[in-house]
Amino acid sequence: MTGVKPYRILLYYMYVPIENPEVFAVRHLKFCKELGLKGRILVGEEGINGTVSGTIEQTDRYMQTMKEDPRFAEMVFKVDEADGHAFKKMHVRPRKEIVTLQLDKDINPQELTGNYLSPKEFFEAMQEEDTVVIDARNDYEYDLGHFRGAIRPDIQAFRELPEWVREHKEELQGKKILTYCTGGIRCEKFSGWLKKEGFEDVNQLHGGIVTYGKDPEVQGKLWNGQCYVFDDRISVPINHTEHVIVGRDHFTGEPCERYVNCANPDCDKRILCSEENEHKYLRGCTHECRVHPGNLYVKEHELTGEEVTIRVRQIGEEIH
Ligand SMILES: [Zn+2]
Repeated sequence: MTGVKPYRILLYYMYVPIENPEVFAVRHLKFCKELGLKGRILVGEEGINGTVSGTIEQTDRYMQTMKEDPRFAEMVFKVDEADGHAFKKMHVRPRKEIVTLQLDKDINPQELTGNYLSPKEFFEAMQEEDTVVIDARNDYEYDLGHFRGAIRPDIQAFRELPEWVREHKEELQGKKILTYCTGGIRCEKFSGWLKKEGFEDVNQLHGGIVTYGKDPEVQGKLWNGQCYVFDDRISVPINHTEHVIVGRDHFTGEPCERYVNCANPDCDKRILCSEENEHKYLRGCTHECRVHPGNLYVKEHELTGEEVTIRVRQIGEEIH
Protein backbone atom coordinates (compact mmCIF):
# COMPACT_ATOMS: atom_id res chain seq x y z
CA MET A 1 0.00 0.00 0.00
CA THR A 2 1.34 3.41 -0.95
CA GLY A 3 -0.62 5.27 1.73
CA VAL A 4 -0.89 8.51 -0.17
CA LYS A 5 -4.52 9.24 0.63
CA PRO A 6 -5.37 10.60 4.10
CA TYR A 7 -8.47 8.46 4.74
CA ARG A 8 -9.39 4.80 4.69
CA ILE A 9 -12.53 2.75 4.38
CA LEU A 10 -12.63 -0.53 6.29
CA LEU A 11 -14.91 -3.44 5.42
CA TYR A 12 -15.02 -6.41 7.77
CA TYR A 13 -17.15 -9.07 9.40
CA MET A 14 -16.78 -12.01 11.70
CA TYR A 15 -19.16 -14.76 12.69
CA VAL A 16 -18.37 -15.22 16.38
CA PRO A 17 -20.67 -15.42 19.41
CA ILE A 18 -21.27 -12.00 20.98
CA GLU A 19 -23.19 -11.91 24.24
CA ASN A 20 -25.57 -9.02 24.88
CA PRO A 21 -25.35 -7.38 21.45
CA GLU A 22 -27.42 -4.42 22.75
CA VAL A 23 -24.85 -3.60 25.43
CA PHE A 24 -22.00 -4.21 22.99
CA ALA A 25 -23.61 -1.85 20.44
CA VAL A 26 -23.91 1.04 22.92
CA ARG A 27 -20.29 0.72 24.05
CA HIS A 28 -18.98 0.21 20.55
CA LEU A 29 -20.79 3.28 19.25
CA LYS A 30 -19.23 5.37 22.00
CA PHE A 31 -15.80 3.98 21.13
CA CYS A 32 -16.23 4.66 17.40
CA LYS A 33 -17.44 8.20 18.02
CA GLU A 34 -14.50 8.90 20.32
CA LEU A 35 -12.17 7.76 17.56
CA GLY A 36 -13.95 9.98 15.03
CA LEU A 37 -15.05 7.15 12.73
CA LYS A 38 -18.17 7.21 10.56
CA GLY A 39 -20.00 4.24 9.15
CA ARG A 40 -22.43 1.41 9.79
CA ILE A 41 -21.90 -1.57 12.05
CA LEU A 42 -24.35 -4.37 12.79
CA VAL A 43 -23.89 -6.61 15.81
CA GLY A 44 -25.79 -9.72 16.80
CA GLU A 45 -25.34 -12.83 18.85
CA GLU A 46 -23.90 -14.38 15.68
CA GLY A 47 -21.18 -11.77 15.08
CA ILE A 48 -20.28 -8.37 13.70
CA ASN A 49 -20.50 -6.78 10.25
CA GLY A 50 -19.11 -3.34 9.66
CA THR A 51 -17.93 -0.71 7.24
CA VAL A 52 -16.39 2.48 8.57
CA SER A 53 -14.31 5.39 7.33
CA GLY A 54 -11.73 7.51 9.09
CA THR A 55 -8.21 8.88 8.89
CA ILE A 56 -5.25 6.51 8.71
CA GLU A 57 -4.59 7.07 12.40
CA GLN A 58 -8.23 6.55 13.44
CA THR A 59 -8.63 3.37 11.42
CA ASP A 60 -5.28 2.03 12.66
CA ARG A 61 -6.38 2.52 16.25
CA TYR A 62 -9.71 0.87 15.51
CA MET A 63 -8.16 -2.22 13.92
CA GLN A 64 -5.56 -2.50 16.68
CA THR A 65 -8.13 -2.23 19.47
CA MET A 66 -10.43 -4.74 17.79
CA LYS A 67 -7.63 -7.27 17.41
CA GLU A 68 -6.82 -7.00 21.10
CA ASP A 69 -10.25 -8.51 21.77
CA PRO A 70 -9.76 -12.31 21.54
CA ARG A 71 -13.10 -12.65 19.73
CA PHE A 72 -11.87 -10.47 16.88
CA ALA A 73 -8.18 -11.38 16.88
CA GLU A 74 -8.55 -13.13 13.51
CA MET A 75 -10.66 -10.41 11.91
CA VAL A 76 -9.75 -9.65 8.31
CA PHE A 77 -10.06 -5.97 7.43
CA LYS A 78 -10.37 -5.00 3.79
CA VAL A 79 -8.80 -1.59 3.49
CA ASP A 80 -9.40 0.99 0.76
CA GLU A 81 -7.72 4.37 0.56
CA ALA A 82 -9.97 7.39 0.29
CA ASP A 83 -9.87 11.18 0.09
CA GLY A 84 -12.43 11.63 2.86
CA HIS A 85 -15.18 9.97 4.86
CA ALA A 86 -17.49 7.61 2.97
CA PHE A 87 -20.37 8.02 5.43
CA LYS A 88 -22.16 10.93 7.01
CA LYS A 89 -22.91 9.43 10.42
CA MET A 90 -21.83 6.67 12.78
CA HIS A 91 -24.31 3.91 13.59
CA VAL A 92 -23.90 0.69 15.56
CA ARG A 93 -27.09 -1.33 15.58
CA PRO A 94 -28.02 -4.57 17.33
CA ARG A 95 -29.63 -7.04 14.93
CA LYS A 96 -30.78 -10.63 14.96
CA GLU A 97 -28.98 -11.21 11.66
CA ILE A 98 -25.79 -9.26 10.91
CA VAL A 99 -26.59 -9.45 7.21
CA THR A 100 -30.13 -9.36 5.87
CA LEU A 101 -30.61 -12.57 3.94
CA GLN A 102 -33.91 -13.83 5.30
CA LEU A 103 -33.10 -17.38 4.27
CA ASP A 104 -35.84 -19.79 5.21
CA LYS A 105 -33.40 -21.78 7.33
CA ASP A 106 -30.92 -19.97 9.55
CA ILE A 107 -27.37 -21.11 8.93
CA ASN A 108 -24.49 -20.92 11.35
CA PRO A 109 -21.45 -20.56 9.06
CA GLN A 110 -19.20 -21.73 11.87
CA GLU A 111 -20.93 -25.11 11.55
CA LEU A 112 -21.85 -25.28 7.88
CA THR A 113 -20.49 -23.29 4.94
CA GLY A 114 -19.04 -23.83 1.45
CA ASN A 115 -15.35 -24.38 0.69
CA TYR A 116 -13.34 -21.19 0.74
CA LEU A 117 -11.57 -20.38 -2.51
CA SER A 118 -8.77 -17.84 -2.73
CA PRO A 119 -9.01 -15.30 -5.58
CA LYS A 120 -6.61 -17.42 -7.65
CA GLU A 121 -8.52 -20.65 -6.98
CA PHE A 122 -11.79 -18.91 -7.80
CA PHE A 123 -10.33 -17.47 -11.01
CA GLU A 124 -9.25 -20.95 -12.10
CA ALA A 125 -12.45 -22.69 -11.01
CA MET A 126 -14.57 -20.21 -12.97
CA GLN A 127 -12.94 -21.40 -16.18
CA GLU A 128 -13.48 -25.10 -15.56
CA GLU A 129 -16.21 -27.01 -17.34
CA ASP A 130 -19.33 -27.97 -15.41
CA THR A 131 -18.98 -24.96 -13.18
CA VAL A 132 -21.83 -22.59 -12.43
CA VAL A 133 -21.16 -19.21 -10.91
CA ILE A 134 -24.05 -17.75 -8.90
CA ASP A 135 -24.13 -14.09 -7.98
CA ALA A 136 -25.43 -13.93 -4.42
CA ARG A 137 -26.35 -10.25 -4.49
CA ASN A 138 -29.30 -8.10 -5.44
CA ASP A 139 -30.23 -7.34 -9.06
CA TYR A 140 -29.05 -3.71 -9.01
CA GLU A 141 -25.64 -4.83 -7.76
CA TYR A 142 -25.32 -7.41 -10.55
CA ASP A 143 -26.41 -4.88 -13.17
CA LEU A 144 -23.46 -2.57 -12.45
CA GLY A 145 -20.89 -5.35 -12.61
CA HIS A 146 -20.39 -9.11 -12.21
CA PHE A 147 -18.13 -12.03 -13.08
CA ARG A 148 -18.24 -12.94 -16.73
CA GLY A 149 -20.79 -15.70 -17.25
CA ALA A 150 -22.21 -15.51 -13.74
CA ILE A 151 -25.86 -16.35 -13.30
CA ARG A 152 -28.05 -13.44 -12.33
CA PRO A 153 -30.83 -15.04 -10.34
CA ASP A 154 -34.03 -13.49 -11.59
CA ILE A 155 -34.95 -12.02 -8.24
CA GLN A 156 -35.55 -8.57 -6.79
CA ALA A 157 -34.21 -9.27 -3.32
CA PHE A 158 -31.95 -11.81 -1.70
CA ARG A 159 -34.80 -13.40 0.27
CA GLU A 160 -36.21 -14.77 -3.00
CA LEU A 161 -33.01 -16.69 -3.71
CA PRO A 162 -33.98 -19.98 -1.98
CA GLU A 163 -37.08 -20.29 -4.16
CA TRP A 164 -35.06 -19.52 -7.29
CA VAL A 165 -32.51 -22.22 -6.40
CA ARG A 166 -35.27 -24.81 -5.88
CA GLU A 167 -36.80 -23.94 -9.24
CA HIS A 168 -33.42 -24.40 -10.95
CA LYS A 169 -32.33 -27.44 -9.00
CA GLU A 170 -31.94 -29.66 -12.05
CA GLU A 171 -29.59 -27.22 -13.82
CA LEU A 172 -27.43 -26.90 -10.73
CA GLN A 173 -27.34 -30.54 -9.63
CA GLY A 174 -23.99 -32.28 -10.11
CA LYS A 175 -22.19 -29.06 -11.01
CA LYS A 176 -19.39 -27.31 -9.20
CA ILE A 177 -21.13 -24.30 -7.68
CA LEU A 178 -19.26 -21.06 -7.08
CA THR A 179 -20.85 -18.22 -5.17
CA TYR A 180 -19.64 -14.70 -4.60
CA CYS A 181 -20.75 -11.44 -3.00
CA THR A 182 -19.19 -8.07 -2.16
CA GLY A 183 -17.17 -8.86 0.96
CA GLY A 184 -17.93 -12.54 1.49
CA ILE A 185 -20.39 -12.33 4.37
CA ARG A 186 -23.53 -13.22 2.40
CA CYS A 187 -21.87 -16.27 0.84
CA GLU A 188 -20.89 -17.61 4.25
CA LYS A 189 -24.55 -18.31 4.88
CA PHE A 190 -25.77 -18.79 1.33
CA SER A 191 -23.16 -21.46 0.56
CA GLY A 192 -24.03 -23.22 3.84
CA TRP A 193 -27.67 -23.05 2.84
CA LEU A 194 -26.84 -24.64 -0.55
CA LYS A 195 -25.10 -27.52 1.22
CA LYS A 196 -28.08 -27.96 3.48
CA GLU A 197 -30.25 -28.13 0.34
CA GLY A 198 -28.20 -31.12 -0.77
CA PHE A 199 -25.69 -29.61 -3.20
CA GLU A 200 -22.28 -31.18 -2.68
CA ASP A 201 -19.62 -29.18 -4.49
CA VAL A 202 -20.29 -25.71 -3.07
CA ASN A 203 -17.56 -23.08 -3.04
CA GLN A 204 -17.38 -19.44 -2.07
CA LEU A 205 -15.04 -16.60 -2.95
CA HIS A 206 -13.16 -15.94 0.27
CA GLY A 207 -13.15 -12.25 1.12
CA GLY A 208 -15.56 -11.49 -1.70
CA ILE A 209 -15.23 -9.35 -4.82
CA VAL A 210 -13.30 -6.57 -3.09
CA THR A 211 -10.55 -9.00 -2.03
CA TYR A 212 -10.49 -10.46 -5.53
CA GLY A 213 -9.91 -6.95 -6.93
CA LYS A 214 -6.92 -6.43 -4.63
CA ASP A 215 -5.21 -9.74 -5.38
CA PRO A 216 -1.90 -8.91 -7.08
CA GLU A 217 -1.97 -12.04 -9.20
CA VAL A 218 -5.49 -12.17 -10.64
CA GLN A 219 -5.93 -8.37 -10.62
CA GLY A 220 -9.68 -8.66 -10.91
CA LYS A 221 -9.59 -10.59 -14.20
CA LEU A 222 -12.93 -11.88 -15.58
CA TRP A 223 -14.80 -9.15 -13.72
CA ASN A 224 -16.93 -6.93 -15.94
CA GLY A 225 -18.08 -3.48 -14.88
CA GLN A 226 -17.78 -2.01 -11.39
CA CYS A 227 -18.57 -3.34 -7.94
CA TYR A 228 -21.53 -1.78 -6.11
CA VAL A 229 -20.61 -0.76 -2.55
CA PHE A 230 -22.82 0.39 0.31
CA ASP A 231 -21.15 3.70 1.06
CA ASP A 232 -20.97 7.15 -0.53
CA ARG A 233 -18.66 5.92 -3.27
CA ILE A 234 -21.49 3.71 -4.69
CA SER A 235 -19.04 1.79 -6.88
CA VAL A 236 -15.38 0.72 -6.96
CA PRO A 237 -13.22 -0.71 -9.78
CA ILE A 238 -12.25 -4.40 -9.59
CA ASN A 239 -10.69 -5.46 -12.88
CA HIS A 240 -7.32 -3.74 -13.26
CA THR A 241 -6.48 -5.30 -16.61
CA GLU A 242 -9.49 -4.17 -18.65
CA HIS A 243 -12.74 -2.28 -18.18
CA VAL A 244 -15.82 -3.74 -19.86
CA ILE A 245 -18.90 -1.67 -19.10
CA VAL A 246 -21.98 -3.85 -18.53
CA GLY A 247 -24.26 -1.26 -16.93
CA ARG A 248 -27.00 0.06 -19.22
CA ASP A 249 -28.79 3.39 -19.06
CA HIS A 250 -32.34 2.85 -17.81
CA PHE A 251 -33.76 5.12 -20.52
CA THR A 252 -31.62 4.55 -23.59
CA GLY A 253 -29.77 1.27 -23.00
CA GLU A 254 -26.44 2.97 -23.63
CA PRO A 255 -23.41 1.85 -21.59
CA CYS A 256 -23.61 3.58 -18.22
CA GLU A 257 -22.19 3.18 -14.71
CA ARG A 258 -23.86 6.06 -12.94
CA TYR A 259 -26.47 5.16 -10.31
CA VAL A 260 -29.18 7.54 -9.11
CA ASN A 261 -32.30 6.94 -7.08
CA CYS A 262 -35.67 7.56 -8.71
CA ALA A 263 -36.85 11.04 -7.70
CA ASN A 264 -40.27 9.77 -6.65
CA PRO A 265 -39.66 9.23 -2.90
CA ASP A 266 -42.31 6.49 -2.80
CA CYS A 267 -40.38 4.58 -5.49
CA ASP A 268 -36.70 5.38 -4.72
CA LYS A 269 -35.58 2.66 -7.16
CA ARG A 270 -31.90 2.63 -8.10
CA ILE A 271 -31.52 3.29 -11.80
CA LEU A 272 -28.48 3.66 -14.00
CA CYS A 273 -28.67 6.87 -16.03
CA SER A 274 -26.48 9.55 -17.57
CA GLU A 275 -26.55 13.11 -16.29
CA GLU A 276 -28.20 14.15 -19.54
CA ASN A 277 -31.02 11.64 -19.16
CA GLU A 278 -31.48 12.50 -15.51
CA HIS A 279 -32.46 16.02 -16.63
CA LYS A 280 -34.44 14.84 -19.62
CA TYR A 281 -36.54 12.35 -17.64
CA LEU A 282 -36.77 14.37 -14.41
CA ARG A 283 -34.96 11.46 -12.71
CA GLY A 284 -38.21 9.47 -12.74
CA CYS A 285 -38.02 5.79 -13.66
CA THR A 286 -41.54 5.81 -15.17
CA HIS A 287 -43.98 8.46 -16.40
CA GLU A 288 -45.83 8.16 -13.07
CA CYS A 289 -42.62 8.80 -11.14
CA ARG A 290 -41.73 11.78 -13.37
CA VAL A 291 -45.03 13.55 -12.75
CA HIS A 292 -45.45 12.39 -9.13
CA PRO A 293 -46.33 15.40 -6.93
CA GLY A 294 -43.44 14.60 -4.58
CA ASN A 295 -40.78 14.36 -7.34
CA LEU A 296 -37.54 15.45 -5.68
CA TYR A 297 -35.88 16.46 -8.95
CA VAL A 298 -38.69 18.91 -9.64
CA LYS A 299 -38.26 20.33 -6.13
CA GLU A 300 -34.47 20.56 -6.32
CA HIS A 301 -34.66 22.42 -9.63
CA GLU A 302 -37.71 24.47 -8.58
CA LEU A 303 -39.59 23.60 -11.76
CA THR A 304 -43.09 24.98 -12.19
CA GLY A 305 -45.99 22.78 -13.28
CA GLU A 306 -45.76 24.36 -16.70
CA GLU A 307 -42.07 23.56 -16.98
CA VAL A 308 -42.73 19.94 -16.01
CA THR A 309 -45.40 19.73 -18.74
CA ILE A 310 -42.95 21.08 -21.31
CA ARG A 311 -40.21 18.65 -20.22
CA VAL A 312 -42.39 15.56 -20.44
CA ARG A 313 -43.79 16.69 -23.81
CA GLN A 314 -40.24 16.76 -25.10
CA ILE A 315 -40.04 13.02 -24.45
CA GLY A 316 -43.46 12.46 -26.01
CA GLU A 317 -45.53 12.19 -22.84
CA GLU A 318 -48.64 14.08 -21.79
CA ILE A 319 -49.89 14.89 -18.31
CA HIS A 320 -53.51 13.93 -17.99
ZN1 LIG B 1 -39.64 5.36 -9.90
